[in-house]
Amino acid sequence: MQKFYKIVTFGCQMNVHESEKLAGVLESMGYRATEDETQADVVVFNTCCVREAAEQKAMGNIGALKPLKKKKKDMIIAVCGCMTQEKKRAEEIYKKFPFVNIILGTHNTYKFKEYLEQVLATKKRVYQVVPEEPCLPVEVESYRTSGYNAWVNIMYGCNNFCTYCIVPYVRGREKSRPMEDIVAECKKLIADGYKEITLLGQNVNSYGNTFNNGKNNFAELLRQIDALDGNFNLKFLTSHPKDLSEEVVKVIAESKHISHMIHLPVQCGSDRILKLMNRNYTVEHYIKTIEMIRKYIPDVNLSTDIIVGFPTETEEDFEMTLDLMKKVQYNTAFCFIYSKRTGTPAEKMDGQVPLATKRERVNRLLALQREIEKNIFNRFLGQTIKVLMTSRKEGKVLGKTDCGINVIIEGVKEFKVDFVTVKIKDIKNTKLIGEIVE
Ligand code: SF4
Repeated sequence: MQKFYKIVTFGCQMNVHESEKLAGVLESMGYRATEDETQADVVVFNTCCVREAAEQKAMGNIGALKPLKKKKKDMIIAVCGCMTQEKKRAEEIYKKFPFVNIILGTHNTYKFKEYLEQVLATKKRVYQVVPEEPCLPVEVESYRTSGYNAWVNIMYGCNNFCTYCIVPYVRGREKSRPMEDIVAECKKLIADGYKEITLLGQNVNSYGNTFNNGKNNFAELLRQIDALDGNFNLKFLTSHPKDLSEEVVKVIAESKHISHMIHLPVQCGSDRILKLMNRNYTVEHYIKTIEMIRKYIPDVNLSTDIIVGFPTETEEDFEMTLDLMKKVQYNTAFCFIYSKRTGTPAEKMDGQVPLATKRERVNRLLALQREIEKNIFNRFLGQTIKVLMTSRKEGKVLGKTDCGINVIIEGVKEFKVDFVTVKIKDIKNTKLIGEIVE
């Protein structure tokens, strides 16, 4: 009889791709995906611990399965990801939810098949939260669910220890995959018809630092993938402002396939707060980096992350962030209210900012960003740009620019996922409206 699985994913693109690998394992064992948990024989929660809210939501979702598990005693429930790598949380899940069959951390997710087989054979619970190992995790075949885009891990972990961030504690130190493996994976993805490849790492600019060969390995990796035959866009996430080099920016500028989209999280516009965050750059350095990028890539699409209300942030510090946003003119800004993460240095800092102040500040920031985006969008009017047709809904063909802006495309005779040239004639909210140019 056909068996089914459901994977519930929380958090970032890293986790989305990790879930594709878990799906790959389950598919290879004969299971098929379902959205209906009452049909599922295996339910996996791939968790995130970057924000308290994500943890609470995951705990709530796991608890909500208790009545179903009572009825479906053979259903297997697994919890993995960043939240279970935190020892305290993993133990809490183990005690609070005795109906959870498998609990595993981030460093041994690739052994999921072994643990699942163990539970199926013995019916005994598996609790495997192991410390970090010096080697790379084994790459398992992914069952890709992200349509025309394929995620590719180039490295794991992070060495930066920003004081608000839990990632280095749950993902371990930086480890880079061999360049030839990544290039071979990309070559196969292009041959399989993927039109967009997104390289993933917590700090892609330090890719290959552990190779100790004195080279800018990320620049070289981009060059080698860009040189592959095919019609595709190449993107990457995430860059750190202290590490993004001129060499990498030049490679992007001279490339055929690399998107002119750079995500460069600034987090704050005050040097004092940046120091408390342990970000290791100043606002001056950041602005110089932006100027350097714009020198080589005048049409760059810049996005950023900003944290509002970091401990001790004053109105003056916050206004420096507003000033920085006005100077840079980001295409997109992801603005977050600071929330305490247990186990990080910032959790214990004095001067926590009241929630009402944080909310008021983030609203001001968002209002400013909306204004900036409106002005930037207006510049697209009349431009002719390359767009990837991605889907057709209710008779409308939708697409994305190489920088991820949504486009409604008119005049399409035959829809297929492919690149087309489009002239932009109108703007509606956050979408461009354009017509195919033959
Ligand atoms: S660079 Fe900083 S924010 Fe990003 S994952 Fe590493 S520690 Fe966290």
